[in-house]
Amino acid sequence: MGSGKARSSPASGRGGATADRGAALGESASEPAARPGEPIWHYAPAPESRDVVSIEPEYGLFVAGTFRPAADGRTFATVNPATEEPLAQVAAAGQADVDAAVGAARAAYEQVWQPMPGSERAKYLYRIARQLQERAREFAVLESLDNGKPIKESRDVDIPLAAAHFFYYAGWADKLEYAGYGPDPRPLGVAGQVIPWNFPLLMAAWKLAPALAAGNTCVLKPAETTPLTALLLAEVCQQAGLPPGVVNVLTGAGDTGAALVRHPGVTKVAFTGSTEVGKEIARTVAGTDKKLTLELGGKAANIVFDDAPVEQAVEGIVNGIFFNQGHVCCAGSRLLVQESVADIVVERLQRRLATLRLGDPLDKNTDIGAINSRQQLDKINELTQAGEAEGAQRWSPPCQLPAKGYWFAPTVFTGVSQSHRIAREEIFGPVLSVLTFRTPDEAVAKANNTPYGLSAGIWTDKGSRILWMAQQLRAGVIWANTYNRFDPASPFGGYQESGYGREGGRHGLAAYLNV
Ligand code: NAD
Repeated sequence: MGSGKARSSPASGRGGATADRGAALGESASEPAARPGEPIWHYAPAPESRDVVSIEPEYGLFVAGTFRPAADGRTFATVNPATEEPLAQVAAAGQADVDAAVGAARAAYEQVWQPMPGSERAKYLYRIARQLQERAREFAVLESLDNGKPIKESRDVDIPLAAAHFFYYAGWADKLEYAGYGPDPRPLGVAGQVIPWNFPLLMAAWKLAPALAAGNTCVLKPAETTPLTALLLAEVCQQAGLPPGVVNVLTGAGDTGAALVRHPGVTKVAFTGSTEVGKEIARTVAGTDKKLTLELGGKAANIVFDDAPVEQAVEGIVNGIFFNQGHVCCAGSRLLVQESVADIVVERLQRRLATLRLGDPLDKNTDIGAINSRQQLDKINELTQAGEAEGAQRWSPPCQLPAKGYWFAPTVFTGVSQSHRIAREEIFGPVLSVLTFRTPDEAVAKANNTPYGLSAGIWTDKGSRILWMAQQLRAGVIWANTYNRFDPASPFGGYQESGYGREGGRHGLAAYLNV
């Protein structure tokens, strides 16, 4: 199976020209072309079954342990971005629902969850983790349907990591006094948690698991384009026998999130999303005694030195920017490559990109799925057009885009300068900007020339250079000779406009304790 033998076609010119639309989704995965004289191999379709998940026509809010419609009856549709088909109608929470959820969370905090011994709280977290594992296939299919991400990523990354977070923080629940935050660290109360659409279940786990382990109760607001796995997680909470009100899920758009953030009953706000909304939330919370953590955007440098093994670096570059369609806050969206190896790295990268398969997210062979929404697709189009207008050279492999749905071909820009918008602004799509450098000092200067500071990658044979670079780079997470590796024990977070506070590991507990 699988050719992996596609033609490198740097001469094929602009991506827009090669990214044709027209195939039906079942036959959508773009087939890499064979090199002259080589046999043409085709992938047989390998669809995961959609039947493992049953999607209800309507979903309510999860408040005080039960599902209920919004007080004013408002709903909105959530759509499969690969086909534009509506999947379900979902309740849109208004002010009365926010009041009810925060009230339920406050009651559960005072009467049940905070007084409960940590060893008892841990049992619930372990149960949730095990349920996530048992229902992993169902969660993975639902995530791919609602988000558009390839099933192999939801199946092998999102869902296992979400379960791992619950397992990890379950282990901390009865050991908080040994976490390094004093002999008697206290929870904060009710956490209002607002999350984005790029890793819907995983972001919910990042937020809920440490908060619950520390003894807080939660009101979670998933993104409006991807509410379904958070609602399935609410069902898992019911299944695990979690006391009513400990976890509440309010679906809705930005206005629901804003109402939650400003609610006086919320004592801790945790937000993951865009820098723009993060700044607005910081303004709302300023002057109150709410504790705040912000996980915002990024524009990471993935830095390749001339002594790096080229093929491995190319895999790391691909993983860095094309994983999850580039909808990754820590994506390696700026490739900084040492000038002496720039041509060969770009040539090998283009050859590798020609083997990627774009199409049906439920096909197990798919590498690149759908863009999550029309709005996000418009943003990617706008910024890539700006890249061309500013004089960078655009390239995409030959790639047939499905006729329906939101799609964008993997795209590489060369000839990018630091002042270009595509080198400065977060595109949040499968678009790589390539810049070059000559010396390590120049690499550091260019990498740090960003308002963000979430992550970076270093590819080199020399350990001493890795350590020196890591000390110079202003980024919360730095990977060496790998990229996009996540572990619940490892803290994650940013500098500057990438936000503040850390999630994951022991550090992630501090955000939910009165320390
Ligand atoms: P977004 O900021 O538009 O929305 C994020 C969430 O905030 C959604 O649930 C949305 O409904 C809600 N929201 C919108 N306006 C609000 C308001 N005024 N008050 C309260 N809540 C509001 O971001 P997005 O487009 O969904 O997500 C993409 C962004 O998230 C990217 O910039 C990405 O880098 C960032 N992100 C960061 C991390 C990280 O850990 N640093 C992780 C994932 C995504």
